[in-house]
Amino acid sequence: MDNEEFRRHGHAFVDWMADYLAGVEEYPVMAKVQPGDIAAQLALSAPEEGEAMEQIFADFQSVVMPGITHWQHPSFFAFFPANSSPPAVLAEMLVATVAPQCMMWQTSPAATEMETRVMDWLRQMIGLPEGFAGVIQDSASSAMLCALLTARERASGWRGNAEGLIALPPLCVYVSEQVHSAADKDVMVAGMGLEYLRKIPVDGNFAMQPQALAAAIEADIAAGRKPCCVIATLGTTGVGAIDPLGPIGELCQRHGIYLHVDAAWAGSALVLPEWRWMIDEIGAVDSFVFNPHKWLFTNFDCSAHFVRSPDDLIRTLDISPAFLKTREGDQVIDYRNWSVPLGRRFRALKLWFVLRSYGVGEIRRRIAAHIEWAREAAGWMEAAADFELLAPVSLALFNFRYHPAGLDDPGALDRLNENLLHELNNSGALYLTQNNVNGAYSIRFSVGQTNTERRHVAAAWQTIQDTARGLSA
Ligand SMILES: *Cc1c(COP(=O)(O)O)cnc(C)c1O
Repeated sequence: MDNEEFRRHGHAFVDWMADYLAGVEEYPVMAKVQPGDIAAQLALSAPEEGEAMEQIFADFQSVVMPGITHWQHPSFFAFFPANSSPPAVLAEMLVATVAPQCMMWQTSPAATEMETRVMDWLRQMIGLPEGFAGVIQDSASSAMLCALLTARERASGWRGNAEGLIALPPLCVYVSEQVHSAADKDVMVAGMGLEYLRKIPVDGNFAMQPQALAAAIEADIAAGRKPCCVIATLGTTGVGAIDPLGPIGELCQRHGIYLHVDAAWAGSALVLPEWRWMIDEIGAVDSFVFNPHKWLFTNFDCSAHFVRSPDDLIRTLDISPAFLKTREGDQVIDYRNWSVPLGRRFRALKLWFVLRSYGVGEIRRRIAAHIEWAREAAGWMEAAADFELLAPVSLALFNFRYHPAGLDDPGALDRLNENLLHELNNSGALYLTQNNVNGAYSIRFSVGQTNTERRHVAAAWQTIQDTARGLSA
Protein backbone atom coordinates (compact mmCIF):
# COMPACT_ATOMS: atom_id res chain seq x y z
CA MET A 1 0.00 0.00 0.00
CA ASP A 2 1.50 3.33 -0.96
CA ASN A 3 1.08 6.45 1.10
CA GLU A 4 -1.67 7.96 -1.07
CA GLU A 5 -3.73 4.79 -0.75
CA PHE A 6 -3.10 4.85 2.99
CA ARG A 7 -4.40 8.43 3.11
CA ARG A 8 -7.53 7.56 1.10
CA HIS A 9 -8.39 4.50 3.20
CA GLY A 10 -7.53 6.33 6.38
CA HIS A 11 -10.08 9.05 5.64
CA ALA A 12 -12.69 6.46 4.70
CA PHE A 13 -12.05 4.50 7.90
CA VAL A 14 -12.41 7.55 10.09
CA ASP A 15 -15.77 8.21 8.41
CA TRP A 16 -16.73 4.63 9.17
CA MET A 17 -15.58 5.02 12.78
CA ALA A 18 -17.69 8.15 13.31
CA ASP A 19 -20.70 6.44 11.71
CA TYR A 20 -20.19 3.40 13.92
CA LEU A 21 -20.15 5.48 17.08
CA ALA A 22 -23.18 7.47 15.93
CA GLY A 23 -25.14 4.27 15.26
CA VAL A 24 -23.74 1.87 17.83
CA GLU A 25 -27.15 1.59 19.51
CA GLU A 26 -28.52 -0.12 16.42
CA TYR A 27 -26.37 -3.22 16.99
CA PRO A 28 -27.31 -6.10 19.28
CA VAL A 29 -25.09 -5.60 22.33
CA MET A 30 -24.01 -9.25 22.61
CA ALA A 31 -22.87 -10.87 19.36
CA LYS A 32 -25.56 -13.10 17.87
CA VAL A 33 -23.38 -15.90 16.56
CA GLN A 34 -22.81 -19.55 17.35
CA PRO A 35 -19.39 -21.05 18.14
CA GLY A 36 -17.49 -21.55 14.88
CA ASP A 37 -19.65 -19.19 12.79
CA ILE A 38 -16.84 -16.69 12.31
CA ALA A 39 -14.04 -19.22 11.94
CA ALA A 40 -15.98 -20.87 9.11
CA GLN A 41 -15.68 -17.64 7.14
CA LEU A 42 -11.95 -17.11 7.66
CA ALA A 43 -9.43 -18.44 5.13
CA LEU A 44 -7.47 -21.43 6.41
CA SER A 45 -4.10 -19.92 5.40
CA ALA A 46 -2.73 -16.46 4.67
CA PRO A 47 -3.00 -15.40 1.02
CA GLU A 48 0.11 -15.77 -1.14
CA GLU A 49 -0.65 -12.56 -3.07
CA GLY A 50 -1.75 -9.36 -1.40
CA GLU A 51 -5.44 -8.42 -1.58
CA ALA A 52 -7.10 -5.08 -2.18
CA MET A 53 -7.93 -3.06 0.94
CA GLU A 54 -11.48 -2.64 -0.41
CA GLN A 55 -11.89 -6.42 -0.19
CA ILE A 56 -10.31 -6.69 3.23
CA PHE A 57 -12.50 -3.90 4.58
CA ALA A 58 -15.63 -5.41 3.04
CA ASP A 59 -14.83 -8.65 4.87
CA PHE A 60 -14.26 -6.73 8.08
CA GLN A 61 -17.79 -5.42 7.79
CA SER A 62 -19.48 -8.64 6.69
CA VAL A 63 -17.45 -11.27 8.59
CA VAL A 64 -15.97 -9.57 11.62
CA MET A 65 -18.60 -7.07 12.72
CA PRO A 66 -21.38 -9.66 13.25
CA GLY A 67 -19.01 -11.42 15.66
CA ILE A 68 -18.38 -8.34 17.79
CA THR A 69 -19.92 -7.80 21.20
CA HIS A 70 -20.39 -4.06 21.44
CA TRP A 71 -18.66 -2.86 24.58
CA GLN A 72 -19.21 0.76 23.49
CA HIS A 73 -22.99 0.23 23.29
CA PRO A 74 -24.81 2.42 25.83
CA SER A 75 -26.86 -0.58 26.97
CA PHE A 76 -23.77 -2.56 27.95
CA PHE A 77 -24.33 -3.36 31.64
CA ALA A 78 -22.31 -6.59 31.77
CA PHE A 79 -19.02 -7.33 33.63
CA PHE A 80 -17.44 -3.94 34.18
CA PRO A 81 -17.19 -1.46 31.31
CA ALA A 82 -14.14 -1.43 29.04
CA ASN A 83 -14.59 2.12 27.96
CA SER A 84 -13.23 3.93 25.00
CA SER A 85 -13.90 7.54 24.01
CA PRO A 86 -13.28 9.70 20.95
CA PRO A 87 -10.13 11.39 22.32
CA ALA A 88 -8.70 7.99 23.28
CA VAL A 89 -9.32 6.64 19.78
CA LEU A 90 -7.64 9.64 18.18
CA ALA A 91 -4.58 9.21 20.39
CA GLU A 92 -4.40 5.51 19.55
CA MET A 93 -4.43 6.32 15.84
CA LEU A 94 -1.43 8.55 16.31
CA VAL A 95 0.38 5.99 18.45
CA ALA A 96 -0.29 3.24 15.92
CA THR A 97 1.20 5.44 13.22
CA VAL A 98 4.32 6.60 15.01
CA ALA A 99 4.54 3.13 16.62
CA PRO A 100 7.36 3.64 19.08
CA GLN A 101 8.49 0.83 21.35
CA CYS A 102 8.84 2.54 24.69
CA MET A 103 10.76 0.03 26.77
CA MET A 104 13.16 2.66 28.09
CA TRP A 105 13.71 6.38 28.14
CA GLN A 106 16.09 6.43 25.18
CA THR A 107 13.72 4.53 22.89
CA SER A 108 11.24 7.45 23.14
CA PRO A 109 11.92 10.01 25.86
CA ALA A 110 8.50 11.65 25.41
CA ALA A 111 6.69 8.42 26.21
CA THR A 112 8.59 7.91 29.45
CA GLU A 113 8.39 11.50 30.62
CA MET A 114 4.70 11.78 29.74
CA GLU A 115 3.98 8.50 31.53
CA THR A 116 5.56 9.86 34.71
CA ARG A 117 3.57 13.09 34.40
CA VAL A 118 0.12 11.69 33.55
CA MET A 119 0.46 9.06 36.26
CA ASP A 120 1.04 11.89 38.68
CA TRP A 121 -2.05 13.65 37.28
CA LEU A 122 -4.01 10.48 38.03
CA ARG A 123 -2.50 10.22 41.49
CA GLN A 124 -3.72 13.73 42.28
CA MET A 125 -7.12 13.13 40.67
CA ILE A 126 -7.88 10.10 42.84
CA GLY A 127 -6.37 11.55 46.02
CA LEU A 128 -3.45 9.19 46.53
CA PRO A 129 -0.88 10.83 48.79
CA GLU A 130 2.39 12.17 47.46
CA GLY A 131 5.13 9.60 47.45
CA PHE A 132 3.32 7.06 45.28
CA ALA A 133 5.06 6.64 41.92
CA GLY A 134 3.06 5.40 38.94
CA VAL A 135 3.61 3.08 36.00
CA ILE A 136 1.16 1.98 33.32
CA GLN A 137 0.75 -1.80 33.22
CA ASP A 138 -1.23 -3.76 30.65
CA SER A 139 -3.72 -5.03 33.21
CA ALA A 140 -4.62 -5.12 36.87
CA SER A 141 -3.64 -8.80 36.80
CA SER A 142 -0.10 -7.85 35.77
CA ALA A 143 0.10 -5.14 38.39
CA MET A 144 -0.99 -7.66 41.01
CA LEU A 145 1.67 -10.08 39.79
CA CYS A 146 4.34 -7.39 40.08
CA ALA A 147 3.13 -6.65 43.61
CA LEU A 148 3.24 -10.34 44.56
CA LEU A 149 6.73 -10.75 43.13
CA THR A 150 7.92 -7.68 45.05
CA ALA A 151 6.30 -9.03 48.21
CA ARG A 152 7.93 -12.41 47.61
CA GLU A 153 11.37 -10.86 47.19
CA ARG A 154 10.98 -8.67 50.23
CA ALA A 155 9.75 -11.56 52.39
CA SER A 156 12.62 -13.76 51.24
CA GLY A 157 15.24 -11.17 52.12
CA TRP A 158 15.76 -10.65 48.35
CA ARG A 159 16.80 -14.28 47.87
CA GLY A 160 13.82 -15.66 45.96
CA ASN A 161 14.88 -14.51 42.51
CA ALA A 162 18.37 -15.87 42.95
CA GLU A 163 17.74 -19.13 44.77
CA GLY A 164 14.14 -20.00 43.95
CA LEU A 165 11.63 -20.69 46.68
CA ILE A 166 12.83 -24.14 47.65
CA ALA A 167 14.94 -23.07 50.62
CA LEU A 168 12.28 -20.74 52.01
CA PRO A 169 9.38 -21.37 54.36
CA PRO A 170 6.03 -21.28 52.52
CA LEU A 171 5.03 -17.69 51.72
CA CYS A 172 1.36 -17.00 52.46
CA VAL A 173 -0.94 -14.60 50.62
CA TYR A 174 -4.22 -13.31 52.07
CA VAL A 175 -7.27 -12.18 50.10
CA SER A 176 -11.00 -12.04 50.78
CA GLU A 177 -13.37 -14.74 49.57
CA GLN A 178 -14.64 -12.18 47.07
CA VAL A 179 -11.24 -11.52 45.46
CA HIS A 180 -10.86 -11.49 41.68
CA SER A 181 -9.64 -14.75 40.14
CA ALA A 182 -6.50 -12.86 39.07
CA ALA A 183 -5.18 -13.47 42.59
CA ASP A 184 -5.31 -17.24 42.13
CA LYS A 185 -3.65 -16.97 38.75
CA ASP A 186 -0.92 -14.64 39.98
CA VAL A 187 -0.15 -16.82 42.99
CA MET A 188 0.24 -19.75 40.57
CA VAL A 189 2.47 -17.74 38.22
CA ALA A 190 4.60 -16.44 41.09
CA GLY A 191 5.22 -20.03 42.17
CA MET A 192 3.85 -19.42 45.64
CA GLY A 193 1.33 -22.25 45.59
CA LEU A 194 -2.45 -22.07 45.81
CA GLU A 195 -2.19 -24.10 49.00
CA TYR A 196 -0.82 -20.96 50.67
CA LEU A 197 -3.45 -18.57 49.32
CA ARG A 198 -5.77 -17.81 52.24
CA LYS A 199 -9.32 -16.77 51.35
CA ILE A 200 -10.52 -14.81 54.36
CA PRO A 201 -14.24 -14.84 55.23
CA VAL A 202 -16.28 -11.71 54.62
CA ASP A 203 -18.87 -9.81 56.66
CA GLY A 204 -22.49 -9.03 55.79
CA ASN A 205 -21.32 -6.40 53.29
CA PHE A 206 -18.96 -8.92 51.66
CA ALA A 207 -15.86 -7.10 52.99
CA MET A 208 -12.85 -8.92 54.42
CA GLN A 209 -13.09 -9.54 58.19
CA PRO A 210 -9.96 -8.17 59.85
CA GLN A 211 -10.31 -10.49 62.88
CA ALA A 212 -10.35 -13.51 60.57
CA LEU A 213 -7.33 -12.11 58.75
CA ALA A 214 -5.49 -11.70 62.04
CA ALA A 215 -6.28 -15.27 63.02
CA ALA A 216 -5.07 -16.65 59.70
CA ILE A 217 -1.81 -14.71 59.91
CA GLU A 218 -1.18 -15.90 63.45
CA ALA A 219 -1.93 -19.51 62.57
CA ASP A 220 0.56 -19.37 59.71
CA ILE A 221 3.27 -17.83 61.86
CA ALA A 222 2.69 -20.45 64.58
CA ALA A 223 3.09 -23.19 61.97
CA GLY A 224 6.40 -21.79 60.71
CA ARG A 225 5.05 -20.25 57.51
CA LYS A 226 5.78 -16.68 56.45
CA PRO A 227 2.95 -14.20 55.82
CA CYS A 228 4.03 -12.35 52.71
CA CYS A 229 1.29 -10.31 51.07
CA VAL A 230 -2.27 -9.14 51.64
CA ILE A 231 -4.37 -8.15 48.65
CA ALA A 232 -7.26 -5.91 49.68
CA THR A 233 -9.98 -5.09 47.17
CA LEU A 234 -11.88 -1.85 46.74
CA GLY A 235 -14.92 -2.78 44.65
CA THR A 236 -14.95 -6.56 44.27
CA THR A 237 -16.01 -7.86 40.89
CA GLY A 238 -19.07 -9.75 42.10
CA VAL A 239 -20.80 -7.28 44.40
CA GLY A 240 -18.50 -4.23 44.66
CA ALA A 241 -17.43 -4.89 48.26
CA ILE A 242 -14.90 -2.56 49.87
CA ASP A 243 -12.31 -4.11 52.17
CA PRO A 244 -11.41 -1.95 55.22
CA LEU A 245 -7.88 -0.65 54.61
CA GLY A 246 -7.39 0.69 58.16
CA PRO A 247 -7.50 -2.53 60.20
CA ILE A 248 -5.97 -4.56 57.35
CA GLY A 249 -3.10 -2.10 57.07
CA GLU A 250 -2.50 -2.22 60.83
CA LEU A 251 -2.05 -6.00 60.66
CA CYS A 252 0.28 -5.66 57.69
CA GLN A 253 2.42 -3.14 59.52
CA ARG A 254 2.53 -5.20 62.68
CA HIS A 255 3.74 -8.28 60.78
CA GLY A 256 5.80 -6.64 58.03
CA ILE A 257 3.44 -7.82 55.29
CA TYR A 258 3.30 -6.20 51.83
CA LEU A 259 -0.12 -4.67 51.13
CA HIS A 260 -1.48 -4.43 47.59
CA VAL A 261 -4.83 -2.78 46.85
CA ASP A 262 -6.85 -3.98 43.88
CA ALA A 263 -9.20 -1.13 42.92
CA ALA A 264 -9.35 -2.17 39.25
CA TRP A 265 -12.87 -0.87 38.74
CA ALA A 266 -13.73 1.24 41.79
CA GLY A 267 -10.52 3.27 41.70
CA SER A 268 -11.99 5.57 39.07
CA ALA A 269 -14.71 6.63 41.52
CA LEU A 270 -12.01 8.13 43.73
CA VAL A 271 -12.15 11.18 41.45
CA LEU A 272 -15.25 11.96 43.52
CA PRO A 273 -14.41 13.45 46.94
CA GLU A 274 -17.44 11.72 48.47
CA TRP A 275 -15.81 8.31 47.75
CA ARG A 276 -12.35 9.18 49.08
CA TRP A 277 -13.18 7.54 52.42
CA MET A 278 -12.28 4.27 50.71
CA ILE A 279 -8.61 5.30 50.92
CA ASP A 280 -8.68 7.43 54.08
CA GLU A 281 -6.51 4.83 55.77
CA ILE A 282 -4.02 4.13 53.02
CA GLY A 283 -0.95 4.66 55.24
CA ALA A 284 0.22 1.02 55.17
CA VAL A 285 -0.45 0.41 51.47
CA ASP A 286 2.60 -0.49 49.35
CA SER A 287 0.95 -0.92 45.98
CA PHE A 288 -2.33 0.25 44.43
CA VAL A 289 -3.87 -0.42 41.04
CA PHE A 290 -6.90 0.81 39.13
CA ASN A 291 -7.85 0.54 35.48
CA PRO A 292 -8.51 3.66 33.43
CA HIS A 293 -9.36 1.06 30.78
CA LYS A 294 -12.47 0.20 32.74
CA TRP A 295 -14.25 3.31 33.90
CA LEU A 296 -12.06 6.26 32.90
CA PHE A 297 -12.86 6.49 29.17
CA THR A 298 -9.42 5.26 28.09
CA ASN A 299 -9.47 2.22 25.86
CA PHE A 300 -7.81 -1.05 26.74
CA ASP A 301 -5.02 -1.47 27.71
CA CYS A 302 -4.23 1.03 30.44
CA SER A 303 -3.84 -0.05 34.04
CA ALA A 304 -2.54 2.52 36.51
CA HIS A 305 -0.20 0.96 39.06
CA PHE A 306 1.19 3.03 41.94
CA VAL A 307 3.90 1.88 44.31
CA ARG A 308 5.26 3.43 47.46
CA SER A 309 8.75 2.08 46.77
CA PRO A 310 9.73 1.94 43.10
CA ASP A 311 13.15 0.77 44.31
CA ASP A 312 11.64 -2.45 45.66
CA LEU A 313 9.76 -3.04 42.41
CA ILE A 314 12.85 -2.38 40.30
CA ARG A 315 15.03 -4.50 42.54
CA THR A 316 12.56 -7.31 41.91
CA LEU A 317 12.26 -6.96 38.13
CA ASP A 318 15.47 -5.31 36.89
CA ILE A 319 17.61 -7.28 34.52
CA SER A 320 20.12 -5.29 32.55
CA PRO A 321 21.94 -7.23 29.87
CA ALA A 322 24.61 -5.30 27.97
CA PHE A 323 22.39 -4.44 25.00
CA LEU A 324 19.83 -2.66 27.21
CA LYS A 325 22.30 -0.44 29.05
CA THR A 326 22.18 3.24 28.13
CA ARG A 327 24.38 6.20 29.00
CA GLU A 328 21.62 8.12 30.74
CA GLY A 329 21.69 5.66 33.63
CA ASP A 330 20.13 6.95 36.83
CA GLN A 331 19.10 10.29 35.34
CA VAL A 332 16.07 8.73 33.69
CA ILE A 333 13.36 6.12 34.28
CA ASP A 334 13.45 2.93 32.26
CA TYR A 335 9.94 1.56 32.73
CA ARG A 336 10.98 -1.85 31.38
CA ASN A 337 12.23 -2.46 34.94
CA TRP A 338 8.79 -1.80 36.40
CA SER A 339 6.84 -4.60 34.68
CA VAL A 340 7.17 -8.13 33.34
CA PRO A 341 7.26 -7.56 29.55
CA LEU A 342 10.24 -5.77 28.06
CA GLY A 343 8.41 -4.07 25.19
CA ARG A 344 5.96 -1.30 25.99
CA ARG A 345 3.36 0.61 23.99
CA PHE A 346 3.03 4.38 24.27
CA ARG A 347 -0.07 4.19 26.49
CA ALA A 348 0.39 7.52 28.25
CA LEU A 349 -0.66 9.46 25.16
CA LYS A 350 -4.28 8.32 25.23
CA LEU A 351 -4.54 9.21 28.90
CA TRP A 352 -3.09 12.64 28.16
CA PHE A 353 -5.64 13.12 25.38
CA VAL A 354 -8.56 11.89 27.48
CA LEU A 355 -7.74 13.89 30.61
CA ARG A 356 -7.14 17.08 28.64
CA SER A 357 -10.11 16.66 26.32
CA TYR A 358 -12.71 15.94 29.03
CA GLY A 359 -11.10 17.77 31.93
CA VAL A 360 -11.37 16.35 35.43
CA GLY A 361 -14.68 18.14 36.06
CA GLU A 362 -16.48 16.37 33.22
CA ILE A 363 -15.00 13.01 34.21
CA ARG A 364 -16.30 13.57 37.74
CA ARG A 365 -19.76 14.50 36.47
CA ARG A 366 -19.99 11.40 34.29
CA ILE A 367 -18.89 8.95 36.95
CA ALA A 368 -21.18 10.59 39.51
CA ALA A 369 -24.06 10.20 37.03
CA HIS A 370 -23.33 6.48 36.56
CA ILE A 371 -23.43 5.98 40.32
CA GLU A 372 -26.65 7.98 40.59
CA TRP A 373 -28.41 5.97 37.83
CA ALA A 374 -27.34 2.64 39.36
CA ARG A 375 -28.77 3.79 42.69
CA GLU A 376 -31.99 4.78 40.98
CA ALA A 377 -32.32 1.48 39.13
CA ALA A 378 -31.63 -0.47 42.31
CA GLY A 379 -34.39 1.59 43.94
CA TRP A 380 -36.87 0.66 41.20
CA MET A 381 -36.08 -3.01 41.71
CA GLU A 382 -36.42 -2.80 45.47
CA ALA A 383 -39.78 -1.12 45.06
CA ALA A 384 -41.09 -3.78 42.66
CA ALA A 385 -42.88 -6.63 44.47
CA ASP A 386 -41.46 -9.33 42.21
CA PHE A 387 -37.80 -8.24 42.13
CA GLU A 388 -35.20 -8.19 44.89
CA LEU A 389 -31.63 -7.09 45.43
CA LEU A 390 -29.27 -9.90 46.45
CA ALA A 391 -26.49 -7.47 47.34
CA PRO A 392 -26.77 -3.77 48.08
CA VAL A 393 -25.80 -1.27 45.42
CA SER A 394 -22.11 -0.41 45.67
CA LEU A 395 -20.93 2.51 43.55
CA ALA A 396 -22.50 1.76 40.15
CA LEU A 397 -23.06 -1.99 40.63
CA PHE A 398 -25.85 -4.08 42.12
CA ASN A 399 -27.05 -7.69 42.05
CA PHE A 400 -30.71 -8.59 41.66
CA ARG A 401 -33.04 -11.42 40.81
CA TYR A 402 -36.57 -11.89 39.67
CA HIS A 403 -38.63 -13.43 42.47
CA PRO A 404 -42.32 -13.77 41.65
CA ALA A 405 -44.69 -14.35 44.56
CA GLY A 406 -45.10 -18.00 45.54
CA LEU A 407 -41.92 -19.25 43.89
CA ASP A 408 -39.49 -19.97 46.70
CA ASP A 409 -37.66 -23.11 45.68
CA PRO A 410 -33.98 -22.06 45.39
CA GLY A 411 -33.28 -24.31 42.40
CA ALA A 412 -36.35 -23.07 40.55
CA LEU A 413 -35.42 -19.45 41.24
CA ASP A 414 -31.90 -20.07 39.92
CA ARG A 415 -33.25 -21.62 36.73
CA LEU A 416 -35.80 -18.86 36.24
CA ASN A 417 -33.15 -16.16 36.53
CA GLU A 418 -30.72 -18.03 34.31
CA ASN A 419 -33.45 -18.19 31.68
CA LEU A 420 -34.21 -14.52 32.21
CA LEU A 421 -30.59 -13.53 31.66
CA HIS A 422 -30.43 -15.68 28.56
CA GLU A 423 -33.57 -14.11 27.10
CA LEU A 424 -32.37 -10.60 27.86
CA ASN A 425 -28.95 -11.06 26.31
CA ASN A 426 -30.30 -12.89 23.27
CA SER A 427 -32.71 -10.02 22.65
CA GLY A 428 -29.74 -7.81 21.82
CA ALA A 429 -31.35 -4.88 23.62
CA LEU A 430 -28.95 -4.98 26.55
CA TYR A 431 -26.18 -7.09 28.01
CA LEU A 432 -25.88 -8.25 31.63
CA THR A 433 -23.84 -10.95 33.34
CA GLN A 434 -24.54 -13.42 36.13
CA ASN A 435 -23.06 -13.86 39.56
CA ASN A 436 -23.54 -16.06 42.58
CA VAL A 437 -24.43 -14.35 45.84
CA ASN A 438 -24.47 -16.58 48.94
CA GLY A 439 -25.27 -19.57 46.75
CA ALA A 440 -28.06 -17.92 44.75
CA TYR A 441 -27.96 -17.13 41.04
CA SER A 442 -28.00 -13.36 40.62
CA ILE A 443 -27.85 -10.91 37.74
CA ARG A 444 -25.27 -8.14 37.91
CA PHE A 445 -26.22 -4.67 36.73
CA SER A 446 -23.16 -2.47 36.20
CA VAL A 447 -23.58 1.08 34.93
CA GLY A 448 -20.63 2.97 33.48
CA GLN A 449 -20.37 2.78 29.71
CA THR A 450 -19.11 6.02 28.16
CA ASN A 451 -22.25 6.49 26.06
CA THR A 452 -24.83 5.43 28.64
CA GLU A 453 -27.50 7.96 29.53
CA ARG A 454 -30.25 7.74 32.11
CA ARG A 455 -32.75 6.77 29.41
CA HIS A 456 -30.74 3.61 28.64
CA VAL A 457 -30.88 2.54 32.26
CA ALA A 458 -34.63 3.22 32.38
CA ALA A 459 -35.15 1.29 29.13
CA ALA A 460 -33.15 -1.64 30.53
CA TRP A 461 -35.38 -1.79 33.61
CA GLN A 462 -38.48 -1.79 31.38
CA THR A 463 -37.06 -4.61 29.24
CA ILE A 464 -36.10 -6.61 32.33
CA GLN A 465 -39.62 -6.34 33.79
CA ASP A 466 -41.39 -7.15 30.52
CA THR A 467 -39.13 -10.11 29.80
CA ALA A 468 -39.31 -11.52 33.33
CA ARG A 469 -43.10 -11.27 33.58
CA GLY A 470 -43.42 -12.75 30.10
CA LEU A 471 -41.35 -15.75 31.20
CA SER A 472 -43.58 -16.83 34.04
CA ALA A 473 -46.78 -16.19 32.09
C1 LIG B 1 -11.41 -6.33 36.22
C2 LIG B 1 -10.78 -6.67 37.50
C3 LIG B 1 -9.52 -7.28 37.54
C4 LIG B 1 -8.80 -7.72 36.30
O1 LIG B 1 -8.42 -6.63 35.53
P1 LIG B 1 -7.48 -6.84 34.25
O2 LIG B 1 -6.98 -5.47 33.97
O3 LIG B 1 -8.36 -7.39 33.19
O4 LIG B 1 -6.41 -7.79 34.63
C5 LIG B 1 -8.95 -7.50 38.78
N1 LIG B 1 -9.58 -7.15 39.91
C6 LIG B 1 -10.78 -6.58 39.92
C7 LIG B 1 -11.43 -6.20 41.21
C8 LIG B 1 -11.43 -6.32 38.70
O5 LIG B 1 -12.65 -5.75 38.70
